[in-house]
Amino acid sequence: LESISSFLYPDDSTDEGKRLRLKQEYFLVSAGVQSVIRSFERLDLPLTSFPDKAALHINDTHPALVIPELMRILMDEKGLGWEEAWDVTQSSVSYTNHTTLSEALESWPVDMVRSLLPRIFMIIEEINERFCQDLWRTYPGDFDRIADLAIVADGQVKMAHLSIVGSHSVNGVAKLHTEILKKREMKRFYDTFPERFNNKTNGITHRRWLMHANKPLTSAITEAIGDSWIEQPKRLEDLLNKQEDHAFLDRLHDIKQENKQNLVDWVQETQGIAVDPASIFDVHIKRLHGYKRQLLNALHIMHLYNEIKSDPTLDIVPRTFFFGAKAASSYHFAKKVIQLINRIAHVVNNDRDVKDKIKVVFLPNYSVSIAERVIPASNVSEQISTASKEASGTGNMKFMMNGALTVGTMDGANVEIHDLVGDDNIYTFGMSSEEVLEYYRNGSYSSREIYENDSRVRHTLDQLVHYSPFSKGETDFQEIYDALLTYNDEFFVLKDFASYLFTQQKVSRDFLNQREWNKKSLINIAKSGKFSSDRTIQEYATDIWQIQRTRMLK
Ligand SMILES: *Cc1c(COP(=O)(O)O)cnc(C)c1O
Repeated sequence: LESISSFLYPDDSTDEGKRLRLKQEYFLVSAGVQSVIRSFERLDLPLTSFPDKAALHINDTHPALVIPELMRILMDEKGLGWEEAWDVTQSSVSYTNHTTLSEALESWPVDMVRSLLPRIFMIIEEINERFCQDLWRTYPGDFDRIADLAIVADGQVKMAHLSIVGSHSVNGVAKLHTEILKKREMKRFYDTFPERFNNKTNGITHRRWLMHANKPLTSAITEAIGDSWIEQPKRLEDLLNKQEDHAFLDRLHDIKQENKQNLVDWVQETQGIAVDPASIFDVHIKRLHGYKRQLLNALHIMHLYNEIKSDPTLDIVPRTFFFGAKAASSYHFAKKVIQLINRIAHVVNNDRDVKDKIKVVFLPNYSVSIAERVIPASNVSEQISTASKEASGTGNMKFMMNGALTVGTMDGANVEIHDLVGDDNIYTFGMSSEEVLEYYRNGSYSSREIYENDSRVRHTLDQLVHYSPFSKGETDFQEIYDALLTYNDEFFVLKDFASYLFTQQKVSRDFLNQREWNKKSLINIAKSGKFSSDRTIQEYATDIWQIQRTRMLK
């Protein structure tokens, strides 16, 4: 019994773990819905006005059981009929989709839902039955389409389907992501319910990620443009007038150096690694996942190491690569990538030939507290997901707001950052989402072809499995090698390698011109106001929840 509240994110690779997770989801959903109804009943209004007074927003599919749970309470406890209850439910519930990765879309085995939640399962079956009948009337005889859209199919309950059918609004979290939902991943739902789909680009709280995490920058901004940006973050654009103000650009530079020095001191104290505060601070912090391509960054560092070893006099702009990443408990491959990054750090940081040119720091136990230390000290923000895979990203916005320049693919909200700052103030590279999706459709990608034609790729990959400083003659990294070659590199790491390398060389050259770099940094800060979560929440309030702004009582 205790385990319901003892394990956050139980390992769902076993049936037992999966069952615990389903129990947790239902427990939290039921408590939440009951609490909302209790508050509503204090207003002494008919249940038909519930949607005017309450909005139930399902943030991803984890709380999707609010749909059958609200139906259950309205019918079994409050005596409403199906049609009335369904109208109330659908008008109250809205859904945000956060991913199109198929392995991340929740589904529960029918047997598990039926045995654990029998009444809830009956209601889900009835929702499915009525939905399929409606589809049959619109698309008579189109069995393929109906099977594709069904909520219950192949012995599974599909929670994203339940969420779309039971909601009046379905939104993606960045423009590109919403377009991919409408045109590809959820095309058939969009064809059926076009009016439900809308975009709400994610945001971050500028109070935490700027005012709290970067106090020196906060003061400099307010001294330059006043404090109206605090309540109206778009006003950060007033900073654009400072582009030619050398004294202000120098101040931005000094603040970045102060933040870098603080990070250097902390890394020395906690990790025992000496970092050069004049080097480029290149930062890749986020959950560890194949699609986020920490491996592309790692292979790039291995390549740089090889270049320095083959010519120790090589003149390269000093860089420190910071990583922070946690892996889900049963994600074996992700842990291998963490092991590889730590191995690279060990090799690079202890080699006399490379020591002062490149350095690698893996920060363990990545968290918000660590992000708050690292982001204000960063020069380069690594946002290098396989195009089409990162729904939005929010790390990208935190870095931009702190004056780091993005090295990124045209994915998620990176696309909107690019639209705001323009080509000169972001480093984009790699395949487009259209190219990626086309390769998945036609299956014509061959990672082995790239391995055979690019000697840099061949050399670094061989170092994973042949005798090398990185493998030390062991087979620790065989699975990484196999994922990239035997299993044809699902995330196009090798395909984007050359383009990434080329872009990183441009970053190094540009960093040498500090005045120009600081100006790019200023433009990023100035344009970041759009990504305040105040804007995002206002959009949800107006477009989805239909609630008005009100003054807080002091
Ligand atoms: C912002 C944040 C994330 C999300 O980062 P992405 O780069 O958008 O994946 C994850 N973990 C922590 C601790 C964060 O602060």
